[in-house]
Amino acid sequence: MRYAPSDLPVFTLTTGPVDAYPAVLRGLAATVLYDYDPAFQATYQRVTEKLARVVKSETMPVLLQGEPVLGLEAAAVSLIGRDDVVLNLVSGVYSKGFAPWAARSGAEIVELAVPYNEVIDPAAVARALAARPDVTVVALCHHDTPSGTINPVAEIGAVVKAHGALFLVDAVSSFGGMKVDAESAAIDLLVTGPNKCLGCPPGLTILGVSNRAWAKMKANPQAPRASILSILDWEDAWRADKPFPFTPSVAEINGLEAAIDLYLAEGPEKVWARHALTAKACRAGLKAMGLPIWPADESFASPTATAVRTPKGIDEAVLRAEVRARYGVVLSSGRGETLGKLTRIGHMGPTAQPLYAVVALTALSGALGALGHKVDVGAGVAAALAVIDAG
Ligand SMILES: *Cc1c(COP(=O)(O)O)cnc(C)c1O
Repeated sequence: MRYAPSDLPVFTLTTGPVDAYPAVLRGLAATVLYDYDPAFQATYQRVTEKLARVVKSETMPVLLQGEPVLGLEAAAVSLIGRDDVVLNLVSGVYSKGFAPWAARSGAEIVELAVPYNEVIDPAAVARALAARPDVTVVALCHHDTPSGTINPVAEIGAVVKAHGALFLVDAVSSFGGMKVDAESAAIDLLVTGPNKCLGCPPGLTILGVSNRAWAKMKANPQAPRASILSILDWEDAWRADKPFPFTPSVAEINGLEAAIDLYLAEGPEKVWARHALTAKACRAGLKAMGLPIWPADESFASPTATAVRTPKGIDEAVLRAEVRARYGVVLSSGRGETLGKLTRIGHMGPTAQPLYAVVALTALSGALGALGHKVDVGAGVAAALAVIDAG
């Protein structure tokens, strides 16, 4: 049997967008209220207050009405002015991609880069800052998703704080799937969204802003106002008695509330543990099947996405197409520099359940075998199950 491209997938095990939780879908289906209806204004404030418990920023989280690329661009152009010197920490496609936004103001960009299967060393950040005492903003992508690697955000945050620069972090694909918050990593501007580990569809940005970041944005004459890119316009919008700059994404807010309720009810630590266990089982299975992961060291492999190197002689796009056609399973490709070199298995939100690792391993092994690269699927499944049973 084959699944046609027009057939719906059976398992979407991607790195985002991800399957939404059923409760989120019910939230999205709630009555669409007028945004100035007091019931919606109260909802908006309540959702922001619930987010504040997990984002842990010094001030109330800000919601922007677009998926997190909007938040990254808005953060760059709001925080960074022409007099700034930005240290951009590049460990992959997303961190590299941040530079053009950061440079739009005319700021100087200093780059500290590592190969895309490595992570940033906090000591190297300290050296870079010592060499350039004039750095005012440091930008990091916590989980550079197209590599499946996790940067040591808290350690780097401590270095940045000691230097006195502002710390801007893309935590889009890590937040909600592992420990990362503004407080524990000394983040001044945390950018994330509900469409990865919180299990919502794409459509919103969540920002955690420090007092210093607000002051910096307000003092930046280049920070957008009266614009879809404005963060400043939304500062007080969380309050039920304050106006919105423009119509918020009503249905998405309802979906987000369902997600954050699930997250708080299950308990963040438990949620992180099932992400970590799923990824660990996945890595064990890959290893047993002789398929190396992309990260140079397992210690910084992501708990929310596993990147597996494409075996020599296999066309990665053909491999993913085969996985979908044979088993109805959708996996993610690499991006940019990692495109064609690896396949990514997402463990995000509802798919961060250990047995989904087994689904991905079996589908991958079957498709590889069909393409002439035989692997020992039995050994892979046994290794994954051993991790799951011990967890
Ligand atoms: C998903 C993601 C974003 C949002 O960008 P899209 O590619 O448009 O979904 C931003 N940063 C990171 C690290 C991401 O994984």
